[in-house]
Amino acid sequence: MPNYVTSVGMEVHAELSTKSKMFCRCQVAFGGEPNTRTCPVCLALPGSLPVPNREAIEMVIKTALALNCKIGGTKEESIFHRKNYFYPDIPKGFQTTQYGEENPFGYHGYLEIPTPDGGTKRIGIRRIHLEEDTGKLMHLPSGGSGIDYNRAGTPLMEIVTDFPPDIHNGEEAKEYLSQLRQILMYLGVCDGKMEEGSLRCEPNISIAPEGSKELGVKSELKNLNSFRSVQMGIAFESRRQEAALENGETLLQETRGWNEQKESSFAMRIKEAENDYRYFPCPDLVPMSFTPEYIEELRANLPELPLAKFQRYTQEYGLSAYDANLLISEREWAYWFEEAIEKGGEPKAICNWMNSDFAKMLNEEGITSRQSKITPDHLVELVKLIEDGTISGKIAKTIFAKAYETGDMPKKLVEASGATQISDTGAIKAQVQAVLDANPDVVAKYKGGNMGVKGFLVGQIMKATQGRANPGIVQQLLDELLSS
Ligand SMILES: [Zn+2]
Repeated sequence: MPNYVTSVGMEVHAELSTKSKMFCRCQVAFGGEPNTRTCPVCLALPGSLPVPNREAIEMVIKTALALNCKIGGTKEESIFHRKNYFYPDIPKGFQTTQYGEENPFGYHGYLEIPTPDGGTKRIGIRRIHLEEDTGKLMHLPSGGSGIDYNRAGTPLMEIVTDFPPDIHNGEEAKEYLSQLRQILMYLGVCDGKMEEGSLRCEPNISIAPEGSKELGVKSELKNLNSFRSVQMGIAFESRRQEAALENGETLLQETRGWNEQKESSFAMRIKEAENDYRYFPCPDLVPMSFTPEYIEELRANLPELPLAKFQRYTQEYGLSAYDANLLISEREWAYWFEEAIEKGGEPKAICNWMNSDFAKMLNEEGITSRQSKITPDHLVELVKLIEDGTISGKIAKTIFAKAYETGDMPKKLVEASGATQISDTGAIKAQVQAVLDANPDVVAKYKGGNMGVKGFLVGQIMKATQGRANPGIVQQLLDELLSS
């Protein structure tokens, strides 16, 4: 029985976050009353002509640049093709897309994914092109079927990995998809909602004996709507194919669906050959080429991407990989952090508050940082109050909770509560002495060698001062008085 190697090619479809559709001015949105966002162009009525959406093209080029691609097709121009097939969800009888290796908007790029040993692995990207989404078939409760064309004509970007594939298991596929999703969201070109279908992934999976130069017969998986299903689906397919080969069966090139509940795949249809689609250049749309100045302008305006942020946060700010990953998980969250740093916040302290108390409160309420009453100014002020010894870390937690609730600035809340930290050595010394006098038995234990009881004494002093005594001074005075 040979050892098998799995190879995974990834096709990712991302609905672009444009305001209008690819070739008409109908609004792009999710859901809504069926067939309310349609017009003669996206319904393909006779005589209607498409006008390309410039913003959609720019979004694809930006993505291609962020994924280290060359731009504009190998023949230095990009064209649209017609992919002909008849199915009720495409009103035109063809899908407008970009076919072949010569003319996608982006080609020959790569994406780096982190590996378990702390390094990175480069996943080659073969092409990135633009097409339009289909409508949706709906199975009605009455038993009939209906078609909703609201989605028809939504700009759809397709990102295809290299051949032969660089991805060899479900974990790598999941990592690739999660990195890609994060980049698309940072670029603001896709909302990344897998559950709403705005980001869809169709991996093709094959296995071959180790050392074999040829890839095995592949199957393509559909209906994967989470990272977990991508990872599990690929693992399932490798096992299924291996078992089939070991049983002497012949594998078919087929499209298979994923059943989330049963955690298994099922045959849907035998894959059509590509030439069934009779591709040809769309006579309604002119070829496009881009000047180097235009490309360079787009490149210069790309935002800092998650991986670069991660490296900057860990190297420049000394944050742990865990903390940095939490901060970059969403663009808005990373920007919030950076705004606080710009306003003079100490990075490690700001990060700790964000990833603990703040994140917890936001999660409980199910809102984002910008929807809350806490601004970067609040946190910067709070951290400064702790740093300069005005309040203790413990009191800061209460102040933060109040600021979260009311939106009041921490300084104002501290003044109103009188909760400033006591750093007056004389005042604290009196409290320490009072606690020692009240607990002679504990003091005796300490002097008898039981150092552990010191924690109890500290607790009593903090209690007597409502947690306001400066902990450093308490420790120092306690040591002094106990050893006298
Ligand atoms: Zn329309």
